Amino acid sequence: MAAPYDVCIRGAGIVGRTLALLLARDRLRVALVDLPPAPAARSDVRAYALNAASRELLLRLRAWPDEQHATPVATMDVRGDDGGRVQFSAAHEQVPALAWIVDVQPLLARLAEAVRFQPQIEVVAAPQPAALTVVCEGRASSTRAEFGVHFEVTSYPQRAIAARLDCDKPHGGVAHQWFEDGNVLGLLPMGGAQGNSVALVWSVLEPRADELLAMPAEQFQARLQTACGDAFGAMKLSTDRMAWPLQRAQADRWCGGGWVLAGDAAHNVHPLAGQGLNLGLADAEMLAQVLHEREYWRGLGDEKLLRRYERARKADVLAMAWTTDGLQQLFALPAEPVAWLRNWGMRGFDHSGPVKRWVVRQAMGHASNLLRTGRT
Ligand SMILES: Cc1cc2nc3c(=O)[nH]c(=O)nc-3n(C[C@H](O)[C@H](O)[C@H](O)COP(=O)(O)OP(=O)(O)OC[C@H]3O[C@@H](n4cnc5c(N)ncnc54)[C@H](O)[C@@H]3O)c2cc1C
Repeated sequence: MAAPYDVCIRGAGIVGRTLALLLARDRLRVALVDLPPAPAARSDVRAYALNAASRELLLRLRAWPDEQHATPVATMDVRGDDGGRVQFSAAHEQVPALAWIVDVQPLLARLAEAVRFQPQIEVVAAPQPAALTVVCEGRASSTRAEFGVHFEVTSYPQRAIAARLDCDKPHGGVAHQWFEDGNVLGLLPMGGAQGNSVALVWSVLEPRADELLAMPAEQFQARLQTACGDAFGAMKLSTDRMAWPLQRAQADRWCGGGWVLAGDAAHNVHPLAGQGLNLGLADAEMLAQVLHEREYWRGLGDEKLLRRYERARKADVLAMAWTTDGLQQLFALPAEPVAWLRNWGMRGFDHSGPVKRWVVRQAMGHASNLLRTGRT
């Protein structure tokens, strides 16, 4: 494809690739800036909980991984630190799954393949001139500052430890989460509906994170077993442990004349609700829609146009940031009487009928599906 390009997307992560495919379908000429991955990115052991809205989008783009790498969650079992418990079930909600646990590398590979077959997209090694630059460089974006954006970061005193484990018992499509003493432990089903492996995401307070990362595998497995009981039988690490510092962050401006932010470059939320990438994919979908619906006389880099996208997405992102932050803080407060109160609250919530159903629908991405562009 010969330059000039309509859009230059900086960053070929999941959000950048998805956006490139959406724009190319709209006949826009896209330059996708892809840097060689850092060694740690090549062996990313995380798995993402993706909601129904994200799945629909990736299916449409023919980039949804096969059944082995996208395991449906039939039940979510969330436990507090003093007997509190909330259970969600796909059967009860009359949906095929509450979420799908997706392997990062197969998803990136499917997206890369779709990009390769799309003649409107050129993968390039450096930024190219274009009517619109979209920054999809993730949380550590360097271009963001070049555009004068202030990225307001609040660090959590926690790191998330991720790893994969093989289990004695099949997971049965159940995703488990335990809140205890300011730590959040999640075990997500993997390897297909009948699988018996799990992805671990353990958000742990700082000094303990160092200790858990440094200890021998057997000792780590024993610690994990103590924390989660017999839900999966004996568990054995099948990958290295990797860790991510955790933060809540928000860009003060998402756009200007000729540029816009999307995904983690614009916002970060705590992973306890598994929503960061779902938000980023909803950004990509909304931005593509706003550009598609622009008046014939508006250019792609028109700031007023880009503000429609910013307004439409900011409310969703803020609501999720506050929800995850609130939950994190609620469970970080020291023992009695708060512990009793929060566990009592969980039990009440579990029987709350319509409120519980509303929360499930939000998490499944139904809010993001209501594409609200709000014209000026
Ligand atoms: C422990 C953990 C668990 C998580 N679990 C979930 C989950 O279950 N569900 C969920 O929805 N979300 C989850 N998230 C959030 C999710 O990881 C992010 O929201 C998602 O990866 C953001 O995608 P992105 O494409 O915006 O950014 P990234 O994935 O960070 O991709 C950015 C890309 O840009 C590239 N890049 C960087 N700088 C430049 C540059 N200057 N030029 C060109 N390219 C550049 C990078 O190499 C990278 O390829 C989790 C996060 C953590 C930390």
